[in-house]
Amino acid sequence: MSLNIVQHATCTFCGCVCDDIELHADAEKIVKTKHACSLGEAWFRNHTAERLYPEALVDGQPATLDTAIDTAADHLYKAHMPLVYGLSNITCEAQREAISLAELAGGVIDSHTSL
Ligand code: SF4
Repeated sequence: MSLNIVQHATCTFCGCVCDDIELHADAEKIVKTKHACSLGEAWFRNHTAERLYPEALVDGQPATLDTAIDTAADHLYKAHMPLVYGLSNITCEAQREAISLAELAGGVIDSHTSL
């Protein structure tokens, strides 16, 4: 069986966002990593390579991305002080966008580290 090799993958596990990871995947899951630390390797190797999730979920049900964006925009518009929460396991670019969205919506920001 041939492996699909991905160069320069980004690990978003701990926040260091190492972006020089090499991944080797068979049809179902990542079987080998190069340049990841032990935490990153464990994180990658527990991910499946195939896409198992729908494009988006709305109220726990599969939805199109357009429907999910419309629903999220409606929630944000109606909210008095939305909380943008989490922000771990995502890239710096995604964090930047989330913070901009919180500022635009008059919201507040928190991360899982406050726990
Ligand atoms: S490879 Fe290790 S150090 Fe780099 S982001 Fe992943 S968990 Fe953090």
